[in-house]
Amino acid sequence: MTFQVIAGPCSLENCEMAITTARFLKSLGVETMRASIFKMRTCPKSWRGLETEGVDVLKTLKESFPDLKLVCEVRSLEDFELVTEWIDVIQIGTRNSQNFYLIEKLSERLATSQTLLLKRGMGMTVKEFRDAQHYAADPNKVWLCERGIRTFEKATRNTLDISAVPVLKSENKNTKVFIDPSHSSGEAAYIPPLILAAKAVGADGVIVEIHPEPQRARTDSQQALDFKTFELTMEKLSHVPHFTYENTTSVSW
Ligand code: PEP
Ligand code: MN
Repeated sequence: MTFQVIAGPCSLENCEMAITTARFLKSLGVETMRASIFKMRTCPKSWRGLETEGVDVLKTLKESFPDLKLVCEVRSLEDFELVTEWIDVIQIGTRNSQNFYLIEKLSERLATSQTLLLKRGMGMTVKEFRDAQHYAADPNKVWLCERGIRTFEKATRNTLDISAVPVLKSENKNTKVFIDPSHSSGEAAYIPPLILAAKAVGADGVIVEIHPEPQRARTDSQQALDFKTFELTMEKLSHVPHFTYENTTSVSW
């Protein structure tokens, strides 16, 4: 099982930066790109992404890079219908992680080639995370993503619960578990070591925010890696052994 790296901007901002990012990822052999156009912002005054205008960007991306898989967060079934033609991985964000109706209905609508990526709720226990996964018609088609939880610690945006990986993998080694070092740490400088840690702890992959010009990113600029740092991190990552859970026994849920 290879370690899967998903990378891309927090939000797609326009066609040019989308294409630039896709071309860069392809040059490094990265197979899956973050490509969100609907942003669930905590403050309603914040920019909420390209929304429906972004559908054309997704279409252009898919037509220009047919074998690059795209991940897009959806807030609702309406969003899903707008993007499903172009998207391979449907993301359910932390703010919707216990929207069981959405999980259930999206899972029923997935094409064979599509997967759900469920972010852990910021106040969710591992057990609740697993429970949410089991609202899906086929829980194996739900990748779980540890993206940091709220604790008393303020040095990072959230607290990365790295032990959630061995806990989830020991419960069921077939569940794909991802780590999001971007939303957990919230700070570009902290992200490279966390990417390496994700592989060492046996996660199935990471989902990382990168941007061609991080300081100009319209959302989450503080945590966006520049291309050079990302490339150097990928090189370092190739030397890290990937822990596997092949010999753990699967306990029933
Ligand atoms: C994201 O990945 O774009 C995002 C908003 O993450 P989360 O839902 O984990 O905050
Ligand atoms: Mn973000």
